[in-house]
Amino acid sequence: MSHTFDVIIIGAGIMGSATAFELSKRGLKVALLDKTTLGVTSSGKSSAIIRQHYSNELTARMALHSLRVFQNFSEQVGGECGFTPTGFAAVVDAKDQAGLEANVAFQQSLGIKTELISPEALRELMPALETDDLVSAVYEPESGYADPYLTVTSYANAARQAGTQLFLDTAVTGIRFSGGKVVGVDTPNGQFDAPLVLNSSGAWGAQVAQMAGVDAPINSCRVQVAFFRRPAGQEAAHPVFADFIRATYFRSETGGLTLVGLIDPGEAKAIVDPDHYFEGVDDAFVMDAGERLISRYPAMEQSQVTGGYAALYAITPDWHPIVDELIPGSGLFICAGFSGHGFKLGPAVSVMVADMMTNASAPSFDPHLFRLSRFAEDDPVRGRYEYSIVG
Ligand SMILES: Cc1cc2nc3c(=O)[nH]c(=O)nc-3n(C[C@H](O)[C@H](O)[C@H](O)COP(=O)(O)OP(=O)(O)OC[C@H]3O[C@@H](n4cnc5c(N)ncnc54)[C@H](O)[C@@H]3O)c2cc1C
Repeated sequence: MSHTFDVIIIGAGIMGSATAFELSKRGLKVALLDKTTLGVTSSGKSSAIIRQHYSNELTARMALHSLRVFQNFSEQVGGECGFTPTGFAAVVDAKDQAGLEANVAFQQSLGIKTELISPEALRELMPALETDDLVSAVYEPESGYADPYLTVTSYANAARQAGTQLFLDTAVTGIRFSGGKVVGVDTPNGQFDAPLVLNSSGAWGAQVAQMAGVDAPINSCRVQVAFFRRPAGQEAAHPVFADFIRATYFRSETGGLTLVGLIDPGEAKAIVDPDHYFEGVDDAFVMDAGERLISRYPAMEQSQVTGGYAALYAITPDWHPIVDELIPGSGLFICAGFSGHGFKLGPAVSVMVADMMTNASAPSFDPHLFRLSRFAEDDPVRGRYEYSIVG
């Protein structure tokens, strides 16, 4: 077996797998390495909500591009991603109303199907919702959620069918350079050689960057989700709901469940060792998530707790990824730090990264916004509105 490739990709989450697929389609010989197996890290445990509600043009365009892929996954990628178009609704505090309206108008100008709806119209979509505190809501009829495990495994399979060689249980332990250029990586299973290497190792992004002596400001943070079985009368699936007032999101899950997570900057404080952290859910989290859910969706007072889990966000200081050549001119690239909202962008990220690594003459998405140097330049990515932690 040859261990010489055009590109080595470190990490087979959605970013690494989708990029491997994209590069293989372009005729490059790709090795996709992962220290674990498919679907057991952030991508496979994602809430996998696919919405378009972003305030920067780049991220909004990436979300729209990616939605079209999720909608047509079997034709464009192959296999299944389990995309379920339940619709997506979001609400903000009255003080953020003007920002919400401006943001919706901006998204519409990009071709995103989104609209402001009244609290009454929201109740037609979600009759059991508490809406007394709302001025309006934003609604995206095309959005929804995917099956995260299916998506990652389908991308990895599609990459393999396009020519990628997949090496699981293969941890990269070192990155080798010669004359300032990357030449390959070391693993316990031997050396792999390539003039291009991508660090798409998610919550391990800083650790892998450090193998090349580079500090990448990515923290591995523990976040949790909880599940509640909807009571009698509430069996029907409901739209994905983002409640910026209660800093909570929830969506339907199979089996009559509702999945609940937080939209909370405080999650960045829960820094853990990505190889050793408690993957179960805390009782206190279930209580808190349940209370937030019930205050918006009172019928869930009768719901039954069915558990939850913890997984990792790879969080940067501005909650946006680093997509860049890690050391300029070296052939070592990074695409990591998606800070809790990367899943929905995966298809567009794969095109952005493949264009960047192959120096494409007309790239589809300019990665400049996500450059590493923005932190030293004190020029972080900023949401255009107060409520827009999600970008
Ligand atoms: C609970 C939860 C809910 C989320 N909800 C949403 C959502 O609703 N919508 C959304 O858009 N996003 C969401 N996200 C965020 C999204 O899931 C992530 O941004 C995305 O999955 C990151 O993908 P990745 O490929 O960068 O990382 P990962 O999926 O973590 O993949 C990185 C891979 O690198 C491998 N690796 C690490 N170090 C090495 C090494 N040394 N050698 C070899 N391999 C290595 C790891 O084993 C891992 O498989 C959520 C995340 C979580 C945890």
